[in-house]
Amino acid sequence: MKSLLIVCLMLIISQANAQNKSNKIVIVTLDGLRWQEVFRGADSTIINSALTQDKKGINGLFWNDDLATRRKMLMPFLWSTIVENGQLYGDRDMGNKEEVANQYHFSYPGYNEIMTGFPDTRVNSNDKVYNPNVNVLEFINKQKGYEGKVAAFSSWDVFPYILNDKRSGVLVNSGISDLETANPKIKMLNKMQHEMLSPVGDDVRPDVLTYQFAKQYMLDQHPKVLYIAFDETDDYAHGGFYQFYLKQAHNEDKMLADLWNTLQNDPYYKDQTTLFITCDHGRGDENPNAWRSHGTDIKNSEQTWFAVIGPETPAVGIMPASETTLYHKQFAQTFAKLLGFDFKANADHETGNVISTVFKK
Ligand SMILES: [Zn+2]
Repeated sequence: MKSLLIVCLMLIISQANAQNKSNKIVIVTLDGLRWQEVFRGADSTIINSALTQDKKGINGLFWNDDLATRRKMLMPFLWSTIVENGQLYGDRDMGNKEEVANQYHFSYPGYNEIMTGFPDTRVNSNDKVYNPNVNVLEFINKQKGYEGKVAAFSSWDVFPYILNDKRSGVLVNSGISDLETANPKIKMLNKMQHEMLSPVGDDVRPDVLTYQFAKQYMLDQHPKVLYIAFDETDDYAHGGFYQFYLKQAHNEDKMLADLWNTLQNDPYYKDQTTLFITCDHGRGDENPNAWRSHGTDIKNSEQTWFAVIGPETPAVGIMPASETTLYHKQFAQTFAKLLGFDFKANADHETGNVISTVFKK
């Protein structure tokens, strides 16, 4: 009788697992990369303005009169693997709308909204203040089987505050900071980051190093939830360097391709992992100069996008026109549901609803 009970229990447990094919998730954010470049490719009015120094070089790399060719030149991974096997949201030219619900349209409020599911008006600066809100990484890190299996790597050094690593217990490696390790490849990265000049400032580690830290940690430690936050696109935009903004978007797409390839070549991750890609805010689009900025006063900078690919997600490609606008505040619940969890945030506020179209019926 006892053994029958055990067999029954085992059946129930295996069925519960079978319901969720995606038991791991990798989230990547590309800071301030507009939906306009994602869906339209390089913008000729900005290329032909003073904001592009090397017009000939950039036209050669990223310009083609044909829209489908042009956007694929900029982000080939998004416009091959993801469009064929996953989903792309936020193409406003097609009538598909996605945006931030927070009123600020800059980084900390955007990342707070993504990770906590709550556009909190108390979170209204980029200052290094510990986030009072419980985030979804912290929640998952407390779930059975996920303890100590959640890690975040970021270029920008404010993430320990955004994700409140002091309280959350999530490993957050941010900015120019060392990762304790016995792995010789990571030891090398620890050294390199102090020797390399960051092109965009002392508070930002070059994205390529952030990526390598995350990748080597992933291969070494096999986290079940990994978050990678790139930064450079936003910095080049503020600086008024459209050519570097485009080149870095292209580099980040290359890193995404390498990441997906790495996941699909590792039996621990293959066909069990969702890759979710988004940004923290949009940018202006009323004239070439508006592209440099974002914020409450910059029209259309609430407009964003996201992409998703994984075993739970139907291959639709570009999501069609919809009356419903989706919001970044819906991501946290969606991440949790991809792993089979229901994200319970702070009791004093609600979180955005799961995005149902990300899931197979
Ligand atoms: Zn910015």
